[in-house]
Amino acid sequence: MMLAVERAEGIYLYGKDGKIYRDMISGISVNNLGHRHPKVIKAIQDQLDKYLHLMVYGEFIQDPTIDLARYLASILPDQLSTVYFVNSGSEAIEGALKLAKRYTGRREIIAFRQGYHGSTHGALSVMGDEQYKRAFRPLIPGIKLLDFNRMDQIERITDRTACVLLEPIQGEAGIRIADNKFLEGIRKKCDDTGTLLILDEVQTGFGRTGTFFAFESFGVIPDIITLAKGLGGGMPIGAFIASGEIMSVLKNDPALGHITTFGGHPLSCAAALAAVRTLKEDQIMDTIPAKENLFRILLRHEEIREVRGKGLFLALEMNSTERVKKIITKALSKGVILDWFLFCPGAIRIAPPLIITEEQIVEAASIILDSINETRN
Ligand code: PMP
Repeated sequence: MMLAVERAEGIYLYGKDGKIYRDMISGISVNNLGHRHPKVIKAIQDQLDKYLHLMVYGEFIQDPTIDLARYLASILPDQLSTVYFVNSGSEAIEGALKLAKRYTGRREIIAFRQGYHGSTHGALSVMGDEQYKRAFRPLIPGIKLLDFNRMDQIERITDRTACVLLEPIQGEAGIRIADNKFLEGIRKKCDDTGTLLILDEVQTGFGRTGTFFAFESFGVIPDIITLAKGLGGGMPIGAFIASGEIMSVLKNDPALGHITTFGGHPLSCAAALAAVRTLKEDQIMDTIPAKENLFRILLRHEEIREVRGKGLFLALEMNSTERVKKIITKALSKGVILDWFLFCPGAIRIAPPLIITEEQIVEAASIILDSINETRN
């Protein structure tokens, strides 16, 4: 998909070929407010006039970083109060895994098949797909993989387990939602065994499923949450967040248990604060159920086997990988950007900017249906 882009605004990318493209994937769940949201641009411009990088993260007091940490703590449950900023989702996972090992003094990590957490060595080690890992072994030891939504496997969490890491809704698996009972069971087992529960909300965070964070609709609170992607409003930033008590173990033995030069970059933090505030102040999340519903009503076709997901985090299950490829290519030529999933090539990803209007949904859905029809043999 080699699209040469001139500029982008709202849900639109403007190609160098003079064509307009409707973004139905948000740069993989990043551009939740669309491209170049005016409030994000303004915040970046204001910060540009003050300072860029000053010092390695945490050494100096920088308002944009502190203001963002405070704001995130204010929209999270009380115990998720202490924020460590990094540069990406992978790095948030690295930090969270290190924190869990250091806090519990244990080495075993439990993750799930078809889970995706990033591409660095630690994040790759907990990836739930051997095909992507094989060429890079040895990876970090002590990883146990369980099957998602299998209640009978929860007992494999024991008092040797440092942490259980999962996405509340698995993204790259093709949008697979955790059963409420499954998440509750894991939470309880973690409590019983002194294991930390890490929820990876890198892709589900910041309104994508209709609430700030997906865990809100499950009623299960993690010990550590990892965030990135939509957090930055289009700028690179990640975070792992825990209680003050848990996070404080990174301070000693060794001191500076996790260091990052650019984590909490003032420009990224200024953009992120504007983005997260706008999601709330403009009540964008309230609009998500109706938009999801509209997609579900419009995307009816004999070839679409299922519309799966929550909010604007949807997968269209098709008949074959071949069909998915053809439809994606056709839709692009007709001005709609779609994508597939790493571990679910038979489904099409629908995750547009949350600011998409109902009119724009109607238009995009009609192009998607045309693309399905025009590629049939
Ligand atoms: N966790 C999840 C759930 C993700 O979807 C991703 C990226 N697709 C990551 C972590 C890794 O994020 P990054 O690419 O920013 O390292």
